[in-house]
Amino acid sequence: MSNTNYSFFKSVETSFDKAAKFTKWDKGLLEQIKACNSIYSMRFPVRMDDGRIEVIEAYRVQHSQHKSPCKGGIRFSDEVNQDEVMALASLMTYKCAIVNVPFGGGKGGIKINPKKYSAYELEKITRRYTAELVKKNFIGPGIDVPAPDYGTGEREMAWIVDTYASLKPGEIDAAGCVTGKPVTQGGVRGRKEATGLGVFYGIREVCNMPEIMKKLDLKTGIEGKTVVVQGLGNVGYHSAKFFREAGAIVTSIAEYEGAIYKADGINEEELFLHRKTTGSILNFPGATNLAKNTDALELECDILVPAALENVINGENAPRVKAKIIAEAANGPLTPEADEILTAKGSVVVPDMYLNAGGVTVSYFEWLKNLSHVRYGRMEKRFTENLNTHILTQMEKLTEKTVGDKERSKILHGPDEVDLVHSGLEETMVSATREIMDIWLSNPDIPDMRTAAYVNAINKVATSYTELGIFP
Ligand code: GLU
Repeated sequence: MSNTNYSFFKSVETSFDKAAKFTKWDKGLLEQIKACNSIYSMRFPVRMDDGRIEVIEAYRVQHSQHKSPCKGGIRFSDEVNQDEVMALASLMTYKCAIVNVPFGGGKGGIKINPKKYSAYELEKITRRYTAELVKKNFIGPGIDVPAPDYGTGEREMAWIVDTYASLKPGEIDAAGCVTGKPVTQGGVRGRKEATGLGVFYGIREVCNMPEIMKKLDLKTGIEGKTVVVQGLGNVGYHSAKFFREAGAIVTSIAEYEGAIYKADGINEEELFLHRKTTGSILNFPGATNLAKNTDALELECDILVPAALENVINGENAPRVKAKIIAEAANGPLTPEADEILTAKGSVVVPDMYLNAGGVTVSYFEWLKNLSHVRYGRMEKRFTENLNTHILTQMEKLTEKTVGDKERSKILHGPDEVDLVHSGLEETMVSATREIMDIWLSNPDIPDMRTAAYVNAINKVATSYTELGIFP
């Protein structure tokens, strides 16, 4: 998706500078916040299944250590380059600050198309990459903690933790060296759907704000809103699922082989299974195929969810985008040019660095679980259930009435790990949305929500720098 004269990092800097004007911080401090602190660019050889040796190009960037560890995913994509990883690492710093997750920003990338490699080759590449990070002290529960991103998932995270633990025997907190692990390897329940669920919680909160909905000439609430999703990966799939379950109508879904449209709504799970059996989302029963996958971005809809790669909405196609709300589930799906065009049109762009922060928020919960060596809910589940049983029994006795079975099990239920994770995520997304909206709505000179989000991030990072006493 990236082209040669487009710098993703520059576009992050542009948004930063636009927001910095609304803050009171020293120019030098702002420069420090913007800069990428450490950039590790590496090459290593891996023997492929056919005996060939391939030199792999990979990166890890630590944008900021104002809080430790650094945090951010690792992507596998043949578009990976240093500029992209730097941009993504910077976004992680701002993202963590906005959702009050106490990490600095980091990001990794391996320049491969994972579809072109066997599982065994991918395992060797991932393990070697991890070993390179260990050698340079670029990974560890207190140093830098990777996670899944585009092209990676639980499987790769399991290889990383296994490699790390075997190179660091006896390190009691080794499981906290990476997040997004399978539950059996120290992962937390609820991490997989976290980014998509966070996107949903964030947009639901925006849609519940009467002043914003009035501006867009929309009714408050999610129910009945039309949604277009670009990307049926982990983030796109789960975003579609939570919107549909809340009563929105997902009219179109796009993937790289094409896009489909269905006015009465697409069930993402059925589409996923259709793709699994036929190899494509096209020719889905009841739906129309669109000529190009990018056509989906230009459809009439209330909410457009770009959930794939950066730079998909740019100066060229932005004038044709008709959505009233753009929910940036991916990192950097809009170029600054597109941003200006859509803002001028009156659309509300809900920015990536806070809207897709659900992933890193639940990663934080996973890391805490790893450091505390105990599953969420283990200590209180039974206690809460016993207490609730006691309260309900007393109430029934005093009122001489009884509640039905369904209500009873709801009232008695003590929290499982997934309940606590979802509730922590909901709280995080709702309060982050309100904080950003307060900044935006209280200053008429702030042009858009992205700038308000950056103002919030800059203020938080700058405050923590000054608290550290680095810039007294
Ligand atoms: N890759 C995700 C992101 O861009 C998650 C990062 C993490 O969990 O550390 O936010």
